Amino acid sequence: MTDERAVEELLKEVEQRAKVCIACHLAQTRTHVVFGEGNPRSPLVLVGEGPGEQEDLTGRPFVGRAGALLDRALREAGMGRQHVYICNIIKCRAFTIENGRARNRPPTADEIQACTPWLDAQLTIIRPLVIVCLGGPAASVIIHKNFRIMQERGQWFTSRWAPAAIAALHPAYILRQAGPAFDRAYALLVEDLKAARAKVIELKQRQQAQQPLVPPDEEQLSLF
Ligand code: SF4
Repeated sequence: MTDERAVEELLKEVEQRAKVCIACHLAQTRTHVVFGEGNPRSPLVLVGEGPGEQEDLTGRPFVGRAGALLDRALREAGMGRQHVYICNIIKCRAFTIENGRARNRPPTADEIQACTPWLDAQLTIIRPLVIVCLGGPAASVIIHKNFRIMQERGQWFTSRWAPAAIAALHPAYILRQAGPAFDRAYALLVEDLKAARAKVIELKQRQQAQQPLVPPDEEQLSLF
């Protein structure tokens, strides 16, 4: 069995258990557990806040308007979904009912705490070199508790799950901006994704310099 198959099988096993999770009350209102998807062998993992309406309906992360904006930003940074792994800090949709309509809301501290073991299991299996936190809540889990997204985005940190972590603006936040504010926020997202890609390349080169006898992974080298 290759290492690749081992990673995928381990991740699948965790996903099967997460799909029946009832560790918090969000289990009562979800349609699907949105575990995460992408390349589990990627050195680059993107972590968002939680599923929205479209994600809850499809079971896939970042498939709504925010997902389309993320895809565009990834393309501008020279990447595609197939090159990264994407997940969220909570796996079920958090929402409130306002005027008869379900509106997304940030996850509570209790919900995040209940769900973090799934994120921990994912990241422990994938062992990324670089994590991009999309938005402040993800950065509060991955980087440090009192993370301030506007002040600290674009800076490099270490994380218990990766040697390098950076936070970027969440695509859903960018979509709420208009005109020049939208353009500025979107440009920052692209800039941070480009920085993340460059950091992966830098760390892989450092790893390979330290381990000259390990054959390079052709697939990964083609992008990073
Ligand atoms: S949000 Fe996380 S902890 Fe809560 S039920 Fe869903 S998978 Fe379980």
